[in-house]
Amino acid sequence: MTSTYPSVRTRFAPSPTGALHLGNVRVAVFNWLLARHHGGSFALRMEDTDLERNLPGAEDAIMEDLRWLGLDWDEGPDVGGPGEPYRQSQGMERYRDAARALLTSGAAYRAFDLPGDELEEGSGRRPYRELPREEQERRASAGVVPVIRLRMPDEVVEIHDEIRGAIRFEGKDMGDFILLRSDGRPTYNFAVVVDDARQGVTHVIRGAGHLSNTPKQALLFDALGAPRPRFIHLPTVLGTDRKKLSKREGAAAVAELREAGYPPGGIVNYLSLLGWSSPDGEEILSVAELVERISVERLGAADTVYDPEKLRWVCARHLAGLSDSELARRAAPFVDRGRFPELEGERLVAAISGVRSHLSHLGEVNRWLEGVDPGEEVLRGVRDALDPEMRRVVGAVATALVRVAEEGWREEEVMAAIRAVGKALGVRGPGLFHPVRLGLTGATSGPELGKVLMALGPREVLRRLRTAADIGVV
Ligand code: GLU
Repeated sequence: MTSTYPSVRTRFAPSPTGALHLGNVRVAVFNWLLARHHGGSFALRMEDTDLERNLPGAEDAIMEDLRWLGLDWDEGPDVGGPGEPYRQSQGMERYRDAARALLTSGAAYRAFDLPGDELEEGSGRRPYRELPREEQERRASAGVVPVIRLRMPDEVVEIHDEIRGAIRFEGKDMGDFILLRSDGRPTYNFAVVVDDARQGVTHVIRGAGHLSNTPKQALLFDALGAPRPRFIHLPTVLGTDRKKLSKREGAAAVAELREAGYPPGGIVNYLSLLGWSSPDGEEILSVAELVERISVERLGAADTVYDPEKLRWVCARHLAGLSDSELARRAAPFVDRGRFPELEGERLVAAISGVRSHLSHLGEVNRWLEGVDPGEEVLRGVRDALDPEMRRVVGAVATALVRVAEEGWREEEVMAAIRAVGKALGVRGPGLFHPVRLGLTGATSGPELGKVLMALGPREVLRRLRTAADIGVV
């Protein structure tokens, strides 16, 4: 495959201020997919200069979530790389050096902001630039430490977004923005550009909420003499109420979904559909298929809606693609051992295969297994719930299954033996299967009967049927 982008370097740049939510992970997914598609590199960079907002443990949690999703990085705070450091808080001299260079070239200037007349970013006012020299000196000698601001042009600033094309911003509407605060800390816009330039990032992929930052950042790249990267602003994700997605409205944390047993490949797949579509319209794609098919050309600009129902559907389809034994292996840690002490090995595989069509995430497994194993109390209640005719059916089935149990316990033969009993007694359909199901599970509906019989195994089936038919254990 010939690549339009010979060497693609993308990055995911979260602030370690909390858990990763689906909204921010989507940004990581696209950065990762694009890097992998082009055989480029994907970096993880911690934007942690806002020390008060950093949350202890958040960096590790972010890395754990990304790893679990399979979004591995080639460069990052833990593995290093050619663009070290990958934590913005480390070696902050680089921001001061860059600011100094911009002062020297005249692109930036010292501004004696006073508390109280904080400005104006975006208002188009640039009072500091015009502050008379005497006033600057007066403020300096009064101990005001200047901030450093970048001069904005009066002309139109044009940026190119790979999805939306050219976007123009009125230069005169943009205030000269701060690069370095008076305490020497860089602002987001400055730190991001210094590091993107230094780390050779070729594609800046982030949410459309950042669009208003991009002209400032583009001007900074120019002022630093660095090439502008390609900008890709992913469409905004809205909640089902069509308002901007917030945690409250259901932007689940990745960690919550992991604990609930959502398949990571299903999550990556679902997130890839928030802003992108496959050329053939296929929505269920493995991670390898996503890597192969992803392209900037098929990214859209229109807002997209986070739909937890669809996430569940995509995840259910991913789970449906697994074999019984693989699904059982993944489900095992989610099975409540206290409630289902005997579901192990083959029996677990059979039980899972009985309930699998209901699963969108593995955390649901106990709810469905209950249909196989409702607990002794429910089963004891069944005896009284069966009328004499039903009890007769259950008793006859129990007797017939003794032979099948001796000859091996295969679904087909077990079901055939039950049907044969029905024939002999002149009952079929619900008249036959309802009492049997009731006797086994205490309910008239639930997982496929054959799967229930396999999951329980012969001993447990006979015990339950005999209890239900009140024929005592012989
Ligand atoms: N730390 C920024 C954020 O999380 C990074 C944005 C960017 O990619 O430039 O929004």
